[in-house]
Amino acid sequence: MLFSELGLSPEILRAIEEQGYTEPTPIQAKAIPLVLSGRDLLAAAQTGTGKTAAFMLPILERMKKFANTSVSPAMHPVRALVLSPTRELADQIGVNVKTYTKYLPLRATTVFGGMNMDPQTAELRRGMEIVIATPGRLLDHIQQKTIQLNKVEVLVLDEADRMLDMGFIQDIRKIMSMLPKERQTLLFSATFATEIKRLAADFMKDPQTVEVARQNATNEQVEQLVYSVDAGRKRHLLSHLIKTRDMSQVIVFCKTKISADQLARDLKRDGLVAEAIHGDKAQASRLEILSSFKEGSLRVLVATDVAARGLDITELPFVVNYELPNSPEDYVHRIGRTGRAGASGIAISLMSPAETRQHEAIEKLTRQTLKPQVVEGFQPGAAAPREEAAPRRESSRGEGGRDYGREGGREGRSSPVRAAPRESQRDPMSLPASALMVGKSGEGLKTINPTAGSRRSRKAQREVPALLLPPRYKVEVNR
Ligand code: AMP
Repeated sequence: MLFSELGLSPEILRAIEEQGYTEPTPIQAKAIPLVLSGRDLLAAAQTGTGKTAAFMLPILERMKKFANTSVSPAMHPVRALVLSPTRELADQIGVNVKTYTKYLPLRATTVFGGMNMDPQTAELRRGMEIVIATPGRLLDHIQQKTIQLNKVEVLVLDEADRMLDMGFIQDIRKIMSMLPKERQTLLFSATFATEIKRLAADFMKDPQTVEVARQNATNEQVEQLVYSVDAGRKRHLLSHLIKTRDMSQVIVFCKTKISADQLARDLKRDGLVAEAIHGDKAQASRLEILSSFKEGSLRVLVATDVAARGLDITELPFVVNYELPNSPEDYVHRIGRTGRAGASGIAISLMSPAETRQHEAIEKLTRQTLKPQVVEGFQPGAAAPREEAAPRRESSRGEGGRDYGREGGREGRSSPVRAAPRESQRDPMSLPASALMVGKSGEGLKTINPTAGSRRSRKAQREVPALLLPPRYKVEVNR
């Protein structure tokens, strides 16, 4: 099928042709005619399927009759509202709309939190036909009367499942109840939980359902690999894989902000260009990191699930799950970052012995067997080579940014302090103090002292951030 067969105007066709879109993706082929007909739509489409164009192109077609070059704000009321769970997704949709409207005088803007409201207010006051917003910030603008929604004809709830996961349900209901009753509603979601069905029942009129991927299905273009590795050696395995598999660019997923920050720091020490993005980073810095990743100057983007939501980086060849997510749905979203829009990709999961539960949950949800493999030299329980304990810094971090206690030291006489094989199979955070006192036989006990001051004191005490290890780990080195 060709885009020209879908009833889109030459201005839109020209813009998408310049983007290199030759033929519609399955969700576009199904959704575009329905949206053009004015029907409400419930679409089950994963990220990476081309869903943004699936709703935005027909919206632009429908809004085309309002396109005008007048400078009067009154001539540009908000006609289409897109709600997005995250700032990054909103920003990405905004970027797409800008390219799609290249030959149409329709105005679009994005409003999201974490940024000064004033420039957004100024934009909104100029008049905008299309507004892409995160729910909280939109409500702020509504409250401050910097936006009017009484002319909205189309509402899009993008990644509705994620908006619900993030606790936006009340905000969404509030916003929906403020919109004109006569409108078209398009709801996109990777999954259809009961709450989404309820939302649809309450706010949509006889919606058509379109589904292009099995619920919770992973993209078949993505090759999925699982490597078993001890938690404390994940970071070395990751550096090894990035270097030996020539990963020109990779997104690495962590579960927490702390572990994302720590991993980015560790990778930098390994000589890789890496940065972390997560919700605690200022919006400007997140956007800057994203843009350097997109332009290719940043090789490794370490991200938490929330921060990564909505990242649109096309043809990204590799995604790494540094820590398996607690929720298997996040696995589906994570690996959706690669193999997008027809490109193939590889998703690698580093699984520590403590993560078998998450692994099983992923297999169950995605209805596939992901057999764990081992990378030579990184077998779980095997001793780490000396170079991993190179005295580059005082201590090395394990999974989750926690310090397992590693004997460093300028003298180079020490070896990694590894948990005993059985202990290593547990979450390091749950290890008893004794597990942190395991050393090479004959070396005596290596211990961790979070309150000790000097870097290389004779007693080789270790400075561990109090946040990461409770004080009960205060133990002296016994040589
Ligand atoms: P989305 O699922 O909307 O996040 O889109 C994923 C990626 O696919 C984006 O980079 C789009 O620019 C791209 N894309 C969307 N539709 C097409 C198409 N018909 N042909 C090629 N690329 C597309």
